Amino acid sequence: MITVRELSEKMEVKTNDVIKKLMTLGVFATINQRLETEAAQVVASDFGFELEVVAMYKEEELAVTKTEKEDPAKLKPRPPVVTIMGHVDHGKTSLLDAIRKSHVAEGESGGITQHIGAYKVKVDKGEVVFLDTPGHEAFTAMRARGAKVTDIVILVVSATDGIMPQTLEAVDHAKAAGVPIVVAVNKIDLPGANPQKIRQDLANHGLQAEEWGGKTIFVDVSAKKRLNLDKLIENLLLQSEILELKANPDRLAHGTVLEAKMDPKRGAVATILVQAGTLKNGDAFVSGLAYGKIKALVDDLGRRIEIAGPSTPVEILGLTGNPQAGDTFTVVENEKSARDIAEKRRLVHREQMMAHQKHMTLVGLRSALTSGSSKAKDLNIVLKADTQGSLQALRDSLEGMATTECRVRVIHGAIGNASESDVLLASASDAVVLMFHADADARAKEIADHDGVEIRSYEIIYDLIEDVKAALEGLLAPEVVDVIVGKGEVKATFAVKGGNIAGTAVRDGKVTRGGFIRVMRDGKSVHEGKVSTLKHFKDDVKEIDKGQECGIGIDGFGGFKVGDLLEFFVKETRTRRLSQSPR
Ligand code: GDP
Ligand code: MG
Repeated sequence: MITVRELSEKMEVKTNDVIKKLMTLGVFATINQRLETEAAQVVASDFGFELEVVAMYKEEELAVTKTEKEDPAKLKPRPPVVTIMGHVDHGKTSLLDAIRKSHVAEGESGGITQHIGAYKVKVDKGEVVFLDTPGHEAFTAMRARGAKVTDIVILVVSATDGIMPQTLEAVDHAKAAGVPIVVAVNKIDLPGANPQKIRQDLANHGLQAEEWGGKTIFVDVSAKKRLNLDKLIENLLLQSEILELKANPDRLAHGTVLEAKMDPKRGAVATILVQAGTLKNGDAFVSGLAYGKIKALVDDLGRRIEIAGPSTPVEILGLTGNPQAGDTFTVVENEKSARDIAEKRRLVHREQMMAHQKHMTLVGLRSALTSGSSKAKDLNIVLKADTQGSLQALRDSLEGMATTECRVRVIHGAIGNASESDVLLASASDAVVLMFHADADARAKEIADHDGVEIRSYEIIYDLIEDVKAALEGLLAPEVVDVIVGKGEVKATFAVKGGNIAGTAVRDGKVTRGGFIRVMRDGKSVHEGKVSTLKHFKDDVKEIDKGQECGIGIDGFGGFKVGDLLEFFVKETRTRRLSQSPR
């Protein structure tokens, strides 16, 4: 963590110089602003410093959620975690309720009233966890907070109403997250139901039914009549098998907070999803800025339990402080280190409140490149336009701009104003929101402001395209070119230890010690290296200009011959123009 002031002091340069340097990178920072690592790195190297990034605390050790870090032998299959999405009134809530009633509640007291934001369904072949927050907004809000909990999305489509705007929105949100979709065609009990038409229409949006040779599983259901719910669950298990969902149950537990609240009687309580490891009573943990020691574990049926393994939703008691939905939950050795980590997180959190530019911006893209950032060079766009025609035209031109090195992806395009869900999607996918003859809702603006998502609006198509083009030019990896700064001719050679020295007449430009040199003979390069010694008579010199003579040596090269032509050059990085890059 470093501010402009701290960086300047450490390098002993004027803050103003650092601020000016930052401006050339498109970063407009104030003296007390915390700098992004990349920006700090570029500035430091420009002033001749190397910046080493060290972790403030053992955060990365906490984040060993990635299964690839685990010994594969320790991984065991775990149940899939499912979120239900779809257009309003197509039956999301009904489907959740129907599944819960037919699989969870029967014969188990309090099963329905005691639910905790997620529940587990058991069938002969396995278990499935359902998150009780249907809709893609909740899904993407979690993702925007960095949490990945959903393994499979159920897309509910009413067989009578068909594909609606939010159906497509849900598809894009799931796709942007890289989460597979299982389609539940609902309300097949109704007379006007046409499940085949749903298959047809979704095929036009990239979801080809399995029975038609595609990859997407479609199940016809009725939430109201409870038709085919078992078949739906079976297919979720099938999809889950394909995904090979695994976790190590024998480690300290790790998970994500699904919801948290203050209970007047019990104090702070949170529902978490255990994603790896096994959570036990008495475990010390950190969760977001909160920490604590597990006093009680309550399952989705309201029962006290002692342990909770991977893919188990569980309510926990014993929190100090209030975590937020989407926060990570991590068990640590003991309560003291839990408290230490939470304290440090609070510090960092306070600092981060000061750094506002969290996401991609068109200007930021350019500076990301100048800094030599190796980040994936994608430009993700959420596109909103006034008409289907302009939307299609823009989508076509934008996607046509992709080059081999840099993809432009319109991750979601729709007619209408930018909404809260558009901004959340942009935030979660590091995208910019571009609007053509459209506006952003007040709530969307608020979130964009808070999350640092860039929203731009345009009245002219050309302007939008030009801006993206300009940003892309920054995104393209710079090209390194040799620029010749001087030329010379070898007039004589002198043997020395380890090679020979070329007595050279400088014909053009200049030669610099440490600079690049190419030895040309008969129009071909015979050697390329660096000028390691440069002498003017007996003196070591840094530079020799045109019209003068000098002695040149190259480390590890002794093959100069009289008559060789020498080229002195520098390597320059140049931002490439879009028009020059390969298609
Ligand atoms: P949501 O907005 O997606 O959560 O949809 P709801 O679950 O609230 O359902 C909207 C309406 O559709 C309600 O009146 C439900 O009773 C009705 N509904 C849901 N599923 C079915 C079904 O399978 N068949 C019929 N006939 N109606 C259904
Ligand atoms: Mg609902």
